Amino acid sequence: MASANPFVDDLRSKPEVIIDPPQDENIIDSEPVNDPTQPATKPNLVVSSSVRELLECPVCLNAMYPPIHQCSNGHTLCSGCKPRVHNRCPTCRHELGNIRCLALEKVAASLELPCKHQSYGCVGIFPYYSKLKHELQCSYRPYSCPYAGSECTVVGDIPFLVAHLKDDHKVDMHSGSTFNHRYVKSNPHEVENATWMLTVFSCYGQYFCLHFEAFQLGMAPVYIAFLRFMGDDNEAKNYSYSLEVGGNGRKLIWQGVPRSIRDSHRKVRDSFDGLIIQRNMALFFSGGDRKELKLRVTGRIWKEQ
Ligand SMILES: [Zn+2]
Ligand SMILES: [Zn+2]
Ligand SMILES: [Zn+2]
Ligand SMILES: [Zn+2]
Repeated sequence: MASANPFVDDLRSKPEVIIDPPQDENIIDSEPVNDPTQPATKPNLVVSSSVRELLECPVCLNAMYPPIHQCSNGHTLCSGCKPRVHNRCPTCRHELGNIRCLALEKVAASLELPCKHQSYGCVGIFPYYSKLKHELQCSYRPYSCPYAGSECTVVGDIPFLVAHLKDDHKVDMHSGSTFNHRYVKSNPHEVENATWMLTVFSCYGQYFCLHFEAFQLGMAPVYIAFLRFMGDDNEAKNYSYSLEVGGNGRKLIWQGVPRSIRDSHRKVRDSFDGLIIQRNMALFFSGGDRKELKLRVTGRIWKEQ
């Protein structure tokens, strides 16, 4: 009766395995033998992480892209850092010259790496040289803080930024798709000191930022109010909003589409994509003695289709 155990045949054909002491098993495992029962991914992952270290520029610590430079001793350097090291290898201080490291460039071309926004949910795996391009466009890439009043450098996903706006910037949070907001400023003539306000609205399971600020449009001091969508542009297009401001029997109405917070606050403002109120008109709406700005802005957000 033939043996049903495939091991027996295997051992017979490779008698040297029998005499190998068991403690050598690890060494045999790590040899690049073609064993179809072993998944090929494990050793490859080990290799790619050490190659990834090789591809890290020792100066700026970014991943290197062609042309990758090297000194005569073989230390590598990215093309962005090369002009900044005054022709001296930052590792051994030897003259750098103009040697390209083609071997490393070719190794890089053979790599496939996960998107760096993996921790935000991207599952994409990309060839080394197209990874950078993807990451710039990746829909999982974190958003910058939409708060416009300071040089805030915080980035994150939307739930994180909403909590950040609330906790760190003390931004007013409102729920609902309609709003009625009052802006009061005692000295409306100080337009240069760009007074601004941010309010966050949550509706339709999304978050919207209402910006209000004073700025100079050419020679004329104006106020602008506009809405930004906390999410990507393709989703922002599913919403519309209207803003109304008035007084003394006059009214200005703006209807627009919220802009994604991927577009900077400044970009939106400078394209005048919002309700623009001339200061004279704003003071007229405010009533009183023109010494105080008192605007009531009402608005509505709705979902298209
Ligand atoms: Zn560098
Ligand atoms: Zn060197
Ligand atoms: Zn990605
Ligand atoms: Zn911030």
